[in-house]
Amino acid sequence: MSYKSLDTQLVHAGYDRPRIGGAVVTPVFRSATFDFRGSDEGETLRYIRYNNTPNHDALHRKLATLERGEAAVVTASGMAAISTALLALLDRGDHLLIQDTLYGGTAALVAQDLPRLGIEVDAFDPRRPEELAARRRPQTRAIYTEALSNPLVQIPDHRAIVAFARRHGLISLVDATFATPVNWQPLTAGYDLAIHSCTKYLNGHSDIVAGAVIGRRRYLDLIAARLRHFGGSLDPGACFLLDRGLKTLALRVARQNDNAQRLAEYLESHPAVGTVHYPGLPSHPDHDRGRELFRGCGGVLAFEVASGDAAARLLDRLEVMTVAPSLGGVETLVSRPAVTSHAEMAAEDRRALGIGDGLVRVAVGIEDPEELIADLEQALA
Ligand SMILES: *Cc1c(COP(=O)(O)O)cnc(C)c1O
Repeated sequence: MSYKSLDTQLVHAGYDRPRIGGAVVTPVFRSATFDFRGSDEGETLRYIRYNNTPNHDALHRKLATLERGEAAVVTASGMAAISTALLALLDRGDHLLIQDTLYGGTAALVAQDLPRLGIEVDAFDPRRPEELAARRRPQTRAIYTEALSNPLVQIPDHRAIVAFARRHGLISLVDATFATPVNWQPLTAGYDLAIHSCTKYLNGHSDIVAGAVIGRRRYLDLIAARLRHFGGSLDPGACFLLDRGLKTLALRVARQNDNAQRLAEYLESHPAVGTVHYPGLPSHPDHDRGRELFRGCGGVLAFEVASGDAAARLLDRLEVMTVAPSLGGVETLVSRPAVTSHAEMAAEDRRALGIGDGLVRVAVGIEDPEELIADLEQALA
């Protein structure tokens, strides 16, 4: 059965037909192992670590459909997706190009773990793809970017990056966590692999940790094989919750796009607020690129107040918004990158990236935008 629009696919794609036991919702297959006699009729050995229970199979089909990929694999976390993909595709002596602003866990992985295995890494500014030519080496094998950067929500020049990767035969990977297939489908833009921390928008309820890699089958086969060895498969209970969360993705992300835009416009007009970073604002340097590439700019924005102390006081006063790292759930979460995602970085390096002590990140939820604005209003007063 094929479903045409993303909204319908989110609800219906991927399930076994006829339905298993007639159940409208695929139940959790809480079974580590499955009946197997070793017949040679193409029957596969099923095991939770092999990531191939009926819960996994349904989710893989759904995710491949949503991202327009040939195949998909779910993993125990976003970091399991990222590390397994990179380790499956790169060998000793290979060279990887990365964008210079990466999610903290990914930045630590490529800085600390890949070099130990003899894989070299170089960073480039993803808004200046002309830098790529000088960074490429004969050993360069892959290029790794993020849909939108954290926390300044900058947008890489994805068109030029994909064109460069194609021209030089590099495998292109993008962490599309901040975009979601509702706002952008990177495989249709030419990327070979899309990665998600499903912990965030895809699940959407801040109650599991999960990841996914979606894209070309020849790479997914390699990644799925390594996953069996590394062991970062997803528990069937988490598969069930992820599948449930996905059904409302389009509704949630549409609301989060709107809420983020409303909050960004409000904050930009507030006298106590400095720069507001949100690509939906015409003042954002990547506004035009966002309109060209994306259907929406997502639920994350950041803004500047006078100092670290002022930011800390603001967070103390919030009543509707919750002060916590992470993003993508139905509840609005607020954090200070200088003491959370970028705490391990030296203060001057942080400032060089544009992340000051007074920077506040808001990962907008689906609450009433007026109530969120009123919360910011009283906290900024
Ligand atoms: C959270 C996050 C990750 C890591 O995901 P986990 O599920 O926490 O392992 C990777 N990339 C981005 C962009 C993220 O926001």
